[in-house]
Amino acid sequence: MKCKKCGETAAINMRQHKLALCAEHYLEWLPQQTQRFIEKYHMFGPEDRILVAVSGGKDSLSLWDVLLRLGYRADGLYIGLGIDGGVDYSHQSYEKVKQFVAERSGQHPDMHLRAVDVGQVYGATVPEAAQISNRGHGKPCSVCGLIKRHIMNRVAYDGGYDVLATGHNLDDEVAVLMQNTLHWQAGYLARQAPVLEASRPGLARKAKPFCRFYERETAAYALLRGIDYIYDECPYAEGSNTIYYKGLLNQLEADRPGAKLQFYLGFLEAKASGLFDRVQEEVELNACEKCGQPTSAPGECAFCRLWERIAAYKAEGRPVRSLPVYAKSL
Ligand code: SF4
Ligand SMILES: [Zn+2]
Ligand SMILES: [Zn+2]
Repeated sequence: MKCKKCGETAAINMRQHKLALCAEHYLEWLPQQTQRFIEKYHMFGPEDRILVAVSGGKDSLSLWDVLLRLGYRADGLYIGLGIDGGVDYSHQSYEKVKQFVAERSGQHPDMHLRAVDVGQVYGATVPEAAQISNRGHGKPCSVCGLIKRHIMNRVAYDGGYDVLATGHNLDDEVAVLMQNTLHWQAGYLARQAPVLEASRPGLARKAKPFCRFYERETAAYALLRGIDYIYDECPYAEGSNTIYYKGLLNQLEADRPGAKLQFYLGFLEAKASGLFDRVQEEVELNACEKCGQPTSAPGECAFCRLWERIAAYKAEGRPVRSLPVYAKSL
């Protein structure tokens, strides 16, 4: 397979685009495409301050790299979840993020890494909080999502950032789209988009500049760019719905190249034509009495109630344990 631009040996073949590129041209192509998506979906402009949520994985680190190369003012936010899972997951992922920053801070003296360690700041790690809270039926993901959303929103908003950028790729988006379609979750479908506007004071604007890249494309970018990222998935991801749907969609893609992209673009077109407008009823949001973040619950938000429950549990002197890695423990 030859590069379409220069005829050298191709490093990647993207069947859905009928495009093969060598390493050099691929490293040009992906940032150019990212810029195109940023403009097409009105994600942010050159003057905006961007906070990139980085996990130490290929998608988020590649996104931060690309945004810096494109000349954006992009800082990173790392959230230490305190997940070990036998692979020292959180510690290893933080090391990758710090290494990424150390390699670039000379060239980009303005880039900053903000780090929030959940265990240190709030007094329990994510697996401990999940074990105490009883949310999520033995899986920490619901508590983890709640905590991450709150912290990301808070750091972005309090830090005066114009937008919070996440590294969601097309495979992530299509897996969610498929789950929401199978269950006809009209409200979720109406809200799924490359950009989520900050509809309330206290909410940060969110954007997903990689939402049209296949996972293998962001992985290829990280590899060819020499970005050292954490290969291990979070140990709690094993057995998740998302991984199951990604597997199904990959089977579909293998038989019908471009099926995943078509599904996603068709959905965005349907949304743009107003298919979901009727569903977008306004959810009544109040400011949480404790932290001030918007919440649909009266009184305190789910995040504050979670930590109150944990404080009460600890006050009784009960032992704080980590939630086991469920897929292996069941
Ligand atoms: S797999 Fe679950 S626990 Fe692990 S980072 Fe994702 S949401 Fe959090
Ligand atoms: Zn080439
Ligand atoms: Zn709150």
